Amino acid sequence: MRAVGILLLASCVISCQNSPFSEVATNNKKPKKSVAPIDKFERKPFVYDSTKNYIYLTFDDGPQNGTQACYNLCKQLGVKATFFMVGKHASSPKTNAIVAEIREAYPNFLLCNHSTTHASGHYKYFYQHPQMATEDFYAAQKSLNVPYKIIRLPGNNAWVLKDAIKASHLVDSTCILLNNAGYNVIGWDVEWNFNHKTANPVQKPQRMAYVVHGALAKPKRLFTKNHVVILAHDRMFRNANYTDSLAKFITILKQNPKNVFETIDHYPRLE
Ligand SMILES: [Zn+2]
Repeated sequence: MRAVGILLLASCVISCQNSPFSEVATNNKKPKKSVAPIDKFERKPFVYDSTKNYIYLTFDDGPQNGTQACYNLCKQLGVKATFFMVGKHASSPKTNAIVAEIREAYPNFLLCNHSTTHASGHYKYFYQHPQMATEDFYAAQKSLNVPYKIIRLPGNNAWVLKDAIKASHLVDSTCILLNNAGYNVIGWDVEWNFNHKTANPVQKPQRMAYVVHGALAKPKRLFTKNHVVILAHDRMFRNANYTDSLAKFITILKQNPKNVFETIDHYPRLE
């Protein structure tokens, strides 16, 4: 990984800008009962508690078989989560309904952008054509009606925040274009791996919880101290026994009173 430039801000407050709903947000007249309520996607300042660990559960590649299981489980356990979705996967009334359900479930759940085509699996070609790659993200932003400009790159762990870009040489041109267009790119600190033949999770839930707590104990392993972004894929948990693995993982993390589950729009230093 080549760091293009990293500047860290001491401030722990997310500013309220660049939301696609900012026109609504900046209308500071209090709504009366007869007018539409303030849009729920209005960005509000977020103040962090330095005694807490912030855990961002993120599920990639939905809508797919497993998305509903992850969503239902997180809802049942009362934990927030983020779904990075792929535009072309929302191709039927059923999959579009899942996207809409998650979009509307904010602030407990957040829908984010994971491209239209997922690079069609050809990551090198995709990122070697940064203009084409960015258009692919813009199309997903529109087709999925993603509320915030928050992206995860397919097949690549890169970060673009308000004051920092961390990207490999392959993706740095794409990241710069996305940054210029006001997008955030979110990578991950810890990944729950899956078997590429079966899509089943590799690590046991106890092991994953240990890895997460280990990363929190050693801040150098994290992109931002006290904040851990966990990457998983919806399809890993589509079968009941593996939905149960996810439940065990979340239950172990919940036992630590310092742990707070948040959606990724509350990650520090977003645009
Ligand atoms: Zn993906």
